[in-house]
Order: sequence, then C-alpha cells, then structure tokens
Amino acid sequence: MKKKSNLKKLISYYKPYKRLFWTDMFFATVSAAVALTIPLIVRYIAYNLVYEERAVILHTMLYLGAGLLLLVAIDCYSRFYIGNYGHVMGAKIEYDMRAEIFAHMQKLSFSFYDDAQVGQLMSRITTDLFDITELLHHGPENIILSVIKIAGALVILVNINWMLAIAAFVMVPIMFFFASKLYRKMRRASRRNRQKIAEINAQIEDNLSGIRVVKSFANEEIENQKFQKGNDGFLESKKNSYHYMGMFQAGMAGFTTLIQVCVLVTGAVLIAYGRLQVQDLITFMLYISVFTEPVRTLVDFTEQFQNGYTGFERFREIMDTKPDIVDAKDAKVLTDVKGDICFDHVSFAYQENQDEVLNEVSLNVPAGAYMALVGSSGAGKTTLCSLIPRFYETTGGNIYIDGHNIKEITLKSLRDNIGIVQQDVYLFAGTIYENISYGKPGATREEVIAAAKNANAHDFIMSFPDGYDTDIGQRGIKLSGGQKQRLSIARVFLKNPPILIFDEATSALDNESERVVQESLEKLAKNRTTFVIAHRLTTIQNAERILVLTENGIAESGSHDELLAKGGIYEKLYHMHA
Ligand code: ADP
Ligand code: MG
Repeated sequence: MKKKSNLKKLISYYKPYKRLFWTDMFFATVSAAVALTIPLIVRYIAYNLVYEERAVILHTMLYLGAGLLLLVAIDCYSRFYIGNYGHVMGAKIEYDMRAEIFAHMQKLSFSFYDDAQVGQLMSRITTDLFDITELLHHGPENIILSVIKIAGALVILVNINWMLAIAAFVMVPIMFFFASKLYRKMRRASRRNRQKIAEINAQIEDNLSGIRVVKSFANEEIENQKFQKGNDGFLESKKNSYHYMGMFQAGMAGFTTLIQVCVLVTGAVLIAYGRLQVQDLITFMLYISVFTEPVRTLVDFTEQFQNGYTGFERFREIMDTKPDIVDAKDAKVLTDVKGDICFDHVSFAYQENQDEVLNEVSLNVPAGAYMALVGSSGAGKTTLCSLIPRFYETTGGNIYIDGHNIKEITLKSLRDNIGIVQQDVYLFAGTIYENISYGKPGATREEVIAAAKNANAHDFIMSFPDGYDTDIGQRGIKLSGGQKQRLSIARVFLKNPPILIFDEATSALDNESERVVQESLEKLAKNRTTFVIAHRLTTIQNAERILVLTENGIAESGSHDELLAKGGIYEKLYHMHA
C-alpha cells in the first residue's frame, strides 16, 4: 500500500517535464525501431537484389544506402537527445527535489537535529537524490528500449521462422536470470569495497591526526598491525568483487555466443531439411545482438530501480517528518515587546517517558531585568532558556511574554524578539560584513559598523587589510575566540531584540578577552530583559536576581548579597570558584 503511494509520488515529479519526458520516450522508441529495421533491410538485399542485373543493383543500392544513412542519422540524433535532454530532465528533477528537501530541513525542529547525523543528511541530499534521478531518467527509457527491442525481434523472428525463433529465444530467460543474480552480487561487492575504503580512509585520517601521540607512545608497530587488518580486508573485498565481475562479463559473452551457435546449428539443420532459406539464417544472426544487449539493460534497470526506490523512500522519510513546533492556527504577531517574562509551572523532558529536566518551574522576570542562572553542569540552565524561543515545547505549563502565551505567537515574531549569545559561535562562510548583517538582513553599512562598534569589534575588524570585507574562511585570517564572540554580539546588537539570552558566552575565553566581551555584553544588556547563564560567578554579582538551579529545580533565588548571607548552595559555589 505504502509502496504504491510512494511510487505515485515518485512519478509525480515528472509532471512539470511532461513534454521532455514524452519526447525522451519517443526518441527511445525511434532508436529501438531503427535497431529493428536495419537487419530487415539487409534481408531485403539478400533476398531480392543479389539476383538482379548489375545496373539494377547499383541503382537500388544508391537509394538503400541513402536510406540506411538516414536511419543511422536518425538513430544518432535519438541517442543524442536521450543522452542530453534525458539527463537534463533528470537534473531538473534532482534540482526540484534538492530544493524541496533543503527547504524542508530548514523547517524541521531542534529535536530532529538532536537525533540526526549531519553526514547522513548530507548523503541524502547528494547520493540518494542522484540514485533517484538516475532511476527517473533511465528507468522508463531503458524499459522502452529493451522491451521494444526484445519483443520486436521476437515478433519479427517468429514470423520469419518460428522454429528457429524458439532456438534463438530459449536461452534468453536463463541469460536474464544469470545476469541479474550476478549483477546483484557484483553491486553488493562494490558496495562492500566502498565501505572498506571508507574505513581505511577514516583509519588513516585518525592515525595521521594523532601521529604525535603514536610516536610519543612508540606504538608505530601496533598501528601498522591495525592498519594491515583494514588493508587486508580491502584487498579481500576487491578480489571478491573482481571475481563476480569476471564471471559476469564472461557469462554475458558466453551466453551471446551460445545463442549464436544454437541458431547456427539449428538453422543449418533446418536448411538441410529445406525448412529455412540461408538469407533468413543471416537475418537471425544479425538480430542476436539486437535482443541480447537489452537483457543487460533490463538488468541495469532492476538495479537502478532498487537503488532509486530505496533512495526515494529515505527522501520521503525526511519529507514526511513534520516539524514538531509550528505556528498555531491563529498565531499573533508579537509587536512592541516590553520584555516581561513569566514561567508558569513549566515542566520539560526531552523525550516522552524520559526524566524531566524541569519540573513545575515558576518564575517572574520583569521587563529590563538582568537575571542570572547558576548551577552545576546538567542542571537544566540551557534547557530553561531554550524554551523561551520555543526551540523545544514545554511538556507542562506555559511561558508568557508581556502576558502573551508564546504558543500563540508566530515563531518568526517570537524569535525576532530574542537574541542569543552562546559559548560556541558559528560564523558562516563569507565576509565579516555578511556575518554581522545576518542579524538584520538588508541592514545598511552604517548600521553594521555601529553594531560592530557597540560590540567592541570595530577596531580589530579595521586592523585586517580588507576590513569588513575580510573573508572569514580565507587562509591566514584566524579569528580568536574573543573576536568571534564579539562578531556574534555585533550580530545581536544589529538585531536589537528586547530579550537576551547569554549562555556561558564568556566561558571559553581567557581573562583578557573575557573582560572585553563582558563589557560589550553589559552594554548590550542595557534596557533589555536578559538571562545570563554564567560559569564564573564573578561576572554576575551585580545581577538583580540570581537563580540557583539544581536537578531538583530552583533551589535558591535572590541577589548576590542575599544568597551569600543565606549560606546555602550559592555560597558554597562562590567560595569554590573564588
Ligand atoms: P546546563 O545548561 O545546566 O548544563 P542542560 O540544560 O544543557 O544543562 O542539560 C540539562 C539536562 O538535559 C542534562 O541532563 C542533559 O544531558 C539533558 N539534555 C540537554 N540537551 C539535551 C538534548 N538535546 N536531548 C536530550 N537531553 C538533553
Ligand atoms: Mg548549558
């Protein structure tokens, strides 16, 4: 059932290219028809012409020769069309599917990416799509070509002499069976080859990256032995695949010869009994390659179908994954945000039937407050903050911004109002300018520069020869952690949201960079509601309120002085770090 509906969906990708598709099919038919016609012309010559007078022969051959040339030209053009436009159609469908899956991946939620592996997703966008379009392009054309050639040859030969036709075709099913069996083994072996070489490459990469460790432990010999195992495995796998390849090639040639011998012997016997003309035997011999070659094409198709169809199933698997978090039906656009945030009995677990990370957390943060979150690693600080932009959905309770339940706000307007600075900064390929203006696409140069100045980034940017147009991916341009962090802060300055989340934004920095980054963070936080997750307690002492989070929820809350005086967890943490 599922298979059928998937197949329908697969076929629906032809829709925009109906004309290309049918033209492709037309030329496949033409090419097959030409292949079937040429032996018939030879037969005509053999039957009629050889008994004529010289002048008639020459005269007729002039026309026949021209006709044959024309047929060859038509066949050439057909093959060109299939080879060129058929592939173009495949490429266009691949283009559509690639755009579709990329756009879909942009929509999928955090929870999807928590489980997904980037490498696997990449292979879906590249290898799987290639397999699918190979099938879409070559599949119908291969079927048309081979079915018409085999069936056409069968009909023609049966009409010429049914007894010899039986002799010619009796072996074809066996040949097909043999070819598909071996072909599958061959493909399996070549897949194993690819896997083995990937293993070897991974091993070499791992070894070379750690070559200093290898040497310091003097473990070269052990490494050689480990490598030999992988290398042996690859050799075995290659030998195995060549074994099948040799058998396949020999087998296909063998069957073709066998059919030729069979036709020749049977034909000679039939001639001896006066049941066959020698001209017809010649015709039969000419047809053998016309119908044996498509057997291979059909086998190709079965394999293409398997690969392409599996690829398409994996493609659908992603396309059928719905984003967990989407706009509610009548979601409102959040405007003029003050920045009041309220957690009302918020509970959260990453997966159903998994332990809750947050259990009925209630919290009121007035607009403009500077709110710190501390607690041991794994306590749920990051999780708590990621619920505000709805990266994940609360499993219980609600979160309100200025009294609006965030579930009733459009995701775009919600996230537009929140700025996040994290410990690891991701900068995209491109220039510094492009990376900052990511915070506000279409920002003017002045705005970008102002944001960079606010983030204490302008001076170091200007110290590069290309300034704002410095390509970040370029060799030789190495940004320090603090510099990258300041670019990410400039990005948020430009975005100018009323709500901020700093998640250990300075944790990875040395003392000097930390001071500069801290300074620009504080400037950014002015007049905005800010959640600060801090690793070093010194950076949050002037927070209006500090929440101490433990596995059991909010354990303590108050100002720095209040919490110190209380002598609880915070006081212990503080003295541990100080
Ligand atoms: P903190 O930021 O306080 O160090 P986190 O909020 O990152 O803590 O993590 C809280 C708990 O949730 C931890 O036990 C962590 O293993 C778990 N966790 C964090 N992120 C995920 C995730 N994406 N999927 C499943 N579990 C997660
Ligand atoms: Mg964290």
